[in-house]
Amino acid sequence: MSNFTPELLAPAGSLDKLIIAVLYGANAVYLGGQKYGLRQAAENFTDQELEEGVSFAHANGAKVFVVLNSFFHDKDFDSLNIFLKKLDDYGVDAVIVSDPGVIKYISENSQLEIHLSTQASCLNVEAAKLWKKLGVTRVVLGRETSIKDAALIKKEAGLEVEMFIHGSMCMAYSGHCVISNYTQGRDSNRGGCAHSCRFEYSFDDKDLESKKSYFMSSKDLEGIRLLQDFVDFEIDSLKVEGRMKSHLYAGTISKVYREALDYYDENGDFHSDNMKHWESELRKITHRAYTQASLVEPASDDSIYDEREHEDSLYTSIGTIRDVNKDAGFLLVEVKSFFNTGDTLEVLPFKGEPFEIVASNITSVSGKELTKTKPGTLVKIPYSPFATRWNLLRKRNLQ
Ligand code: SF4
Repeated sequence: MSNFTPELLAPAGSLDKLIIAVLYGANAVYLGGQKYGLRQAAENFTDQELEEGVSFAHANGAKVFVVLNSFFHDKDFDSLNIFLKKLDDYGVDAVIVSDPGVIKYISENSQLEIHLSTQASCLNVEAAKLWKKLGVTRVVLGRETSIKDAALIKKEAGLEVEMFIHGSMCMAYSGHCVISNYTQGRDSNRGGCAHSCRFEYSFDDKDLESKKSYFMSSKDLEGIRLLQDFVDFEIDSLKVEGRMKSHLYAGTISKVYREALDYYDENGDFHSDNMKHWESELRKITHRAYTQASLVEPASDDSIYDEREHEDSLYTSIGTIRDVNKDAGFLLVEVKSFFNTGDTLEVLPFKGEPFEIVASNITSVSGKELTKTKPGTLVKIPYSPFATRWNLLRKRNLQ
């Protein structure tokens, strides 16, 4: 048994999701500020939220990494120094960067630790050595790297390696694609990717059978069955994709991978029955068919999700418990998807098995009785002694 446990790094698309990911077990989170990131459609953090997020994460033993992984034009450098100073002041643990010019600028103008973004497509020892010379301490490897190759890069280049273990993928070398630029006028490498590869396309060639297909859409990555390899090869950080995904996604992924890594710490293995349980939990969140992509062997046509545009989900994210009031006998729920009086909901605790509660009556914050809730509102449902603030609620979809 190895004494090594990788860091679990979760996406934080908003302050709420940061809190949820940390409380459900992430060791670190990554997020974007208002500029310089590659998820311009995500909520992203204001300066105040960033400061609050770092302080919450640190108080709970977690780290915060901030993405600055857009490719810069000269004018983008204008206010960079001011932003770096703020990140330093807030105590951000590292910045994630792709552009060599930005890496040089940061290493010359701040004390911030620099992680190389997956966007730089580092896949080999020589490239990693070069990035290290520029001041990078950790490389987020391209998704085309196997776990075995990652271990070699770590050993030979002498820096930390981070690998994606879960989430959506890009059919190009992480973002090096301009379909979105040309079809939607949105620049993939400046945070505007419209996920054009997920759409249905047809061949316009008289020699080819005219067939519509989703041939550019990739399945989702799932590496839970390879956890033993990640541990044995001492991969420093396991990264989950998904800053634009739901609160339920952030919480479920953090909980499942945390439980698996903690189980290993205590028992020295991942036990096959537990593995089945963790996999079944991962199938309850929105996802496409899963693949291990290139984690063991280079990805093949088996990684193409040639079915449809949308993702599948066994459960709907109902909302988050924002307050628990034992004396007044209610749970205050921030509603994400509607539910009705009498519905059975599942509470996802930070640790342990999910449990059911019944929304036998629902009232608005002003005390009005409701038969149905609306997304974006706060409602009260009956108190449960086992539910905690920030627990997530989900509901099984009718099959
Ligand atoms: S459109 Fe698809 S392939 Fe292109 S950058 Fe976006 S996710 Fe990647």
